[in-house]
Amino acid sequence: MAKAALLVNVENLKIVERDIPRPDTGEILIRVKSCAICGTDIKVFHHGHKHIVFPRITGHELSGVIEETGPAVKKFKPGDKVAVAPAIPCGECYYCRRGWQSMCDNLKAIGYHFDGGFAQYMIVPEVAVRNGCVNLVPDNLSFDEAALAEPLACVINGQQLSRVEMGDTVLILGAGPIGCLHAELAKNIGASKVILADVVQNRLDMAGFTGAIRVNTKQTDLKKFVAEQTDGRMADRVIVAVGVPEAQEQSLELVSKRGSVNFFGGLPKESPFARINTNILHYGESFVTGTHGSTPLHNRMALDFIAAGKFQIRNYISKKIPLEQIVEGLKEVEERKVVKIIVNP
Ligand SMILES: [Zn+2]
Ligand SMILES: [Zn+2]
Repeated sequence: MAKAALLVNVENLKIVERDIPRPDTGEILIRVKSCAICGTDIKVFHHGHKHIVFPRITGHELSGVIEETGPAVKKFKPGDKVAVAPAIPCGECYYCRRGWQSMCDNLKAIGYHFDGGFAQYMIVPEVAVRNGCVNLVPDNLSFDEAALAEPLACVINGQQLSRVEMGDTVLILGAGPIGCLHAELAKNIGASKVILADVVQNRLDMAGFTGAIRVNTKQTDLKKFVAEQTDGRMADRVIVAVGVPEAQEQSLELVSKRGSVNFFGGLPKESPFARINTNILHYGESFVTGTHGSTPLHNRMALDFIAAGKFQIRNYISKKIPLEQIVEGLKEVEERKVVKIIVNP
């Protein structure tokens, strides 16, 4: 028997004892060691998700040890330390064949279509194993550090889409864990100036380790501030790492000519509209993109970046909790008291 945090229905999360699942022919059974709580876990807890049929075990930022492999699995063996990329491409559609697996027409996800990592054991489905979602974790990384490869993978995807380059001024709206990863990645790429903006002072304080210039937009006029920082040119790259329409609207006023804006955070599905001044795009020849998740390759890159010491990953881990405290953990993340909480089931 083994424990799992089962989301029975919206806001009804139960710790249950269940049989340890057994891997089918192409599947892998993982003993989960670390699964980080993500903002979307909170959304799902309160509102469910269109791809989730209850009951479901959520959790998608995870690492662990392979316990057992199905007979068709040749690349991995019991005892392997792995991180799992939760977004599973089909490998066959047009977008997969173009190498744009995050745009897969048949995208499935661990923690949504399949049970996730808030459990002692988890099955990695065959389609995930086949499409490269299982990545070996470099020896020098802890399981907790490896679990954070998933959010970093999404950030890497975002900055590739934003085309962040050496010498850029990069402005990030939202100083949560995603904003901090963006700040660190931009610095790694060679951005000459990185600015983190937020309305919550506590978050800005926690983001100090990134070395970014921090600005509280409740106290400071952001447009003026960015203008001062850039000799009036505004930021080359603006990354909106919050799901707030007003932030999306404002972002266009903060971008330079020929610069790019990235709507990294999605808006709620009931109100997905923002009023934007499209003349800024017209006259400024600026670009707007979004970002949706990441590919298995981005996850591989993220693990290698972390293993190479390019990110201060330990600073993201505010707290570690056992599975039994997951509801409290969700609450703390929601109240923005912490950067990241890791569940060690
Ligand atoms: Zn996540
Ligand atoms: Zn596909």
